Amino acid sequence: MAGEPQADCLFCKVVTGEVPATLVRETETTVAFRDINPQAPTHVLIVPRVHYPDAASLAAAEPQIAADLLVAAGEVAAQEKVDGTGFRIVFNTGTGAGQTVFHAHAHLLGGRGLNWPPG
Ligand code: 5GP
Ligand code: ZN
Repeated sequence: MAGEPQADCLFCKVVTGEVPATLVRETETTVAFRDINPQAPTHVLIVPRVHYPDAASLAAAEPQIAADLLVAAGEVAAQEKVDGTGFRIVFNTGTGAGQTVFHAHAHLLGGRGLNWPPG
């Protein structure tokens, strides 16, 4: 069934606690935790508890949870105090765009200057 946990999915395991992570915020539908290989002073991943391979498929199937993800990202930005200086929310989608974990996730990046356009 769409959204069901996948046995071989790293972020499904973070959601259940099977894989440990440094959690920074949890809601009924989302979990936020620090990226293991941070690319900025603040680098937090926000994932839905349900499994979809990327953000677009999540939004198509469960738009309210996609909205929850953005709300949670904003809350984490405030919690991490990067809301004043600016932050970026990134959804890498597909291997050509650098996606390596195929469970929808937002990267929240902040705490340093962020170039535009990104690489
Ligand atoms: P993607 O490349 O798919 O957009 O992002 C996946 C992110 O997950 C990468 O930034 C990577 O550093 C992070 N990551 C990979 N494995 C782990 C892990 O086991 N724990 C945590 N906290 N982050 C991970
Ligand atoms: Zn998953």
